[in-house]
Amino acid sequence: MNTELEYVAVPAADLERIRCNDHDDFGNPIVPLTSGGGEPLRCCLTIAPAGDRIALVSHRPMTAGGPYAEVGPVFVHLSDCGGPASDSYPADFRDRRSVLRPYDASGQMLDGVLAAAGTAEVELKQLFDDPAVDTVQVRNVIAGCWNFTVRRQA
Ligand SMILES: [Zn+2]
Repeated sequence: MNTELEYVAVPAADLERIRCNDHDDFGNPIVPLTSGGGEPLRCCLTIAPAGDRIALVSHRPMTAGGPYAEVGPVFVHLSDCGGPASDSYPADFRDRRSVLRPYDASGQMLDGVLAAAGTAEVELKQLFDDPAVDTVQVRNVIAGCWNFTVRRQA
């Protein structure tokens, strides 16, 4: 089964609202930071170079809602960066170990995978071979923070 996948960052409309409000959707004020280099940015799915202007905000990546719809911290650019530059697996995240956490269409968690560095794309395709899998969240191994969501292209 050859499934075309889509890699979903924080939606542009959410970022615009957060930047405009000067606080995130959970009431946390936007505190401007200067990147030390290495922060995973969920606006454009890149790893920040040192010196970029960024902020740490709360985001709820799951749109289905329900008990598994966690809210967590994400680094984003302080101003509009134009979003992800490509449709393919975010290159800066390829060589990172990742937790792949699948969910069904109602937002219930299914069995996940710990992907070794460089294997996440193969592991993702295998997860999506299961028709019950609707989305997969790619998360950091240690902190568990959400990096981006993967779904089948419509
Ligand atoms: Zn960005």
